[in-house]
Amino acid sequence: MTERLRQQGIREPRVLQAMATVPRHLFVDAALASRAYEDSAMPIGHGQTISRPYIVARCVELLLEAIAQPQSASVLEIGTGCGYAAAVLAQLFGTVVTVERLRPLHELARANLRPLRLPNLRLVFGDGSLGIPGQPPFDGIVAAAAGAELPPAWLAQLRNERRLVAPLGVGAQRLVVAHKDAAGRISQRTVEAVRFVPLKPGTG
Ligand code: SAH
Repeated sequence: MTERLRQQGIREPRVLQAMATVPRHLFVDAALASRAYEDSAMPIGHGQTISRPYIVARCVELLLEAIAQPQSASVLEIGTGCGYAAAVLAQLFGTVVTVERLRPLHELARANLRPLRLPNLRLVFGDGSLGIPGQPPFDGIVAAAAGAELPPAWLAQLRNERRLVAPLGVGAQRLVVAHKDAAGRISQRTVEAVRFVPLKPGTG
């Protein structure tokens, strides 16, 4: 899988290492385990999917390249799903908080992640479009679900001079990197076309 990721343009050794470390087959249904290292999204139940390895690696790489000291950085992920990307993030960043709006998937991720024993990873059940109330700003934010625009709570919870990586759009989607400058101003650029599940409000 890492060789393919390299061919797809993922160059950062720490990302390739993290992708090689986390056993993706633990995060998919037993019936799909033999295909766990293919570069495809797969169903995880409740109409949701585990993202393809390439897109996880790409998002993580975009976060990592902007953070000088990842070991002391805090990262927020919106859309835990089965917990795979959260496990990859936890290999690289000091603290990872991941939020999921569907209770059964929140529980599934908890079960999937238990054997990996990642003390720096916190799973939260809730509507991630509201951010994590009461939490200090994050050094990086990554979303795994696409809305029509970036929720203001995400931009508010991003520390100055840090970036957010998120899919954006309904129908046609693009991956965007939003940067918050020293004065708190946001600028945005498009990385590439993507396809994520929709960002939905509320919990279920
Ligand atoms: N990170 C996962 C991707 C899961 S798919 C991986 O490792 O592959 C995206 C997830 O985002 C789905 O589980 C969906 O339920 C969740 N989601 C959608 N809207 C959300 C919201 N407002 N808050 C939290 N999670 C949300």
